[in-house]
Amino acid sequence: MGKHAVRILFDSDPVWPQKCVICMGEASQNIAIIYERKVFNTPYCENCYPKVIRRSNLEGNLALISVFITVPAVIIFLIVGAVRNPDILVKGSTCGVVLLGSLLLLSSIFILGKLCLFVYFHFSGDRTLSPGVKITKTKHPATVELVFSNPQYAQRFSDANGLN
Ligand SMILES: [Zn+2]
Repeated sequence: MGKHAVRILFDSDPVWPQKCVICMGEASQNIAIIYERKVFNTPYCENCYPKVIRRSNLEGNLALISVFITVPAVIIFLIVGAVRNPDILVKGSTCGVVLLGSLLLLSSIFILGKLCLFVYFHFSGDRTLSPGVKITKTKHPATVELVFSNPQYAQRFSDANGLN
């Protein structure tokens, strides 16, 4: 188990201490973090909340932008390829190559975008925040692990749910 990780039963309904998961300030709002269709209502203070929302919006837009660049690029590639060499479209291997190429292009754009965002955040003083908690799988299918960035919150969470 990680340092600030807390293991809970997937079906349980954990108590979230009403403190901000990032800074332990008074929580004023929740953000629903969805993991495998289960909603985890995570509390944030009024200071951290907008920064987390902004970050997740930017990352959501980045994913969309990557798709919007990849799809036309792949279509153009297919059209150009088909005009030059009509045979490639009937070959089974083309499908695999196109699929692999699309995935590579998509992930490259996404990673490049992430890098741009990182550089932007670093130099612009735009303080967006990641959610402060990550939900991860464990080897046991009935449990999940909540990994908190703030060890104090991890402790409070464990105490509130009688886990230690
Ligand atoms: Zn906060």
